[in-house]
Amino acid sequence: MAGRVPSVCPASHRGSLPHSAPGPETGPAPLRLQDLAAVRYEDGQHQGLPVVLGTGGFGRVELVRGRGQLFALKRIRKEHVVRRRQQEHVCTEKRVLERSRCPFIVGLFGTFRDSQDVYMLLEFCPGGELWAKLREVRCFEEEVAVFCSACVVEALDYLHGNGIVYRDLKPENLMLDKQGYIKLVDFGFAKELERGEKTYSFCGTPEYLAPEILRHEGHDFAVDFWMMGILIFEMLVGRPPFHSAEPQKIYSKILDGVFSFPAYVSEAACSLVSKLCRLRPGQRLGNTSTGIRGIRKHRWFGSVKWKRLALRQVDAPTLALMKQGPPYANFKHVSEDWPPGEEEFSGWDQDF
Ligand code: ATP
Ligand code: MG
Repeated sequence: MAGRVPSVCPASHRGSLPHSAPGPETGPAPLRLQDLAAVRYEDGQHQGLPVVLGTGGFGRVELVRGRGQLFALKRIRKEHVVRRRQQEHVCTEKRVLERSRCPFIVGLFGTFRDSQDVYMLLEFCPGGELWAKLREVRCFEEEVAVFCSACVVEALDYLHGNGIVYRDLKPENLMLDKQGYIKLVDFGFAKELERGEKTYSFCGTPEYLAPEILRHEGHDFAVDFWMMGILIFEMLVGRPPFHSAEPQKIYSKILDGVFSFPAYVSEAACSLVSKLCRLRPGQRLGNTSTGIRGIRKHRWFGSVKWKRLALRQVDAPTLALMKQGPPYANFKHVSEDWPPGEEEFSGWDQDF
């Protein structure tokens, strides 16, 4: 879904990885590409055409059915990946997803490749992008924002505990599953990092970039807490705190670190966002001595039953935002134009 400058990233390098493991809910034999059939629009203007759930920098995500179950098939044009030297990021996405077992992270059921594309068979999230819901209602009720943010806290706790920094938090990368719970998708910018290690690549989405990324001084897990502050602000206000049509202006606002809240934002929310969006990573909530517990214990999250949330026993207030109907009811139709790609045989994808 369009709306702002997409995630940015410079050229990258390469690596090789272990083999794909079937996801937690797959049957004994892993699904193969030939077991999957495109799901088509049942009626309306696009009746009979394959359902495309979304498009991204390198390909698109299609709705497919295999053994009676729906999946999202992320299809990535290899030639685009190689041209923009993003092989490392695609491989990291595969590696992180296949190692993750977390209810707040999209499940990966297998990977495939052919001469033009690599594929990731993902758990289908029928509620659509949180971004689309936010645009529909302009800004969320506090209860919805608290719930979504709490799901993100769970996901970040899991990722950081496994040495992974996410680096691309934003409503476009948060999907709603059938229970209305948040799932993180799009691990193209995730990075495996040792405690104490820093990374230097410039990537993320302009409005969400942490100041230390802009200063090229090296960054670590703390960037995810900054981005969480931006996300909470955007959910409550309908736009991010540092905003401009020109990325350079966004960057100078971020580096100044000055922003203000509309009067209707609660004092607790202002307090949490201010503590997450501290210019100095060492002073940022989540990254201080209390760790992520400091975030969970903040009074804005006072109503959250964390244990029940982790067990998915909390009623999701997001359900009220989801449309009933065919499986694609919460997705806008995406143009089905998909010209044939060039073949690519350099071998970077051998582990798919
Ligand atoms: P980007 O340009 O953001 O890097 P990308 O090529 O990495 O894009 P994703 O962000 O993973 O692709 O997916 C693109 C879009 O496809 C999502 O924003 C969403 O609308 C849809 N999508 C992705 N994964 C799923 C899923 N598991 N279930 C339903 N829809 C999905
Ligand atoms: Mg994305």
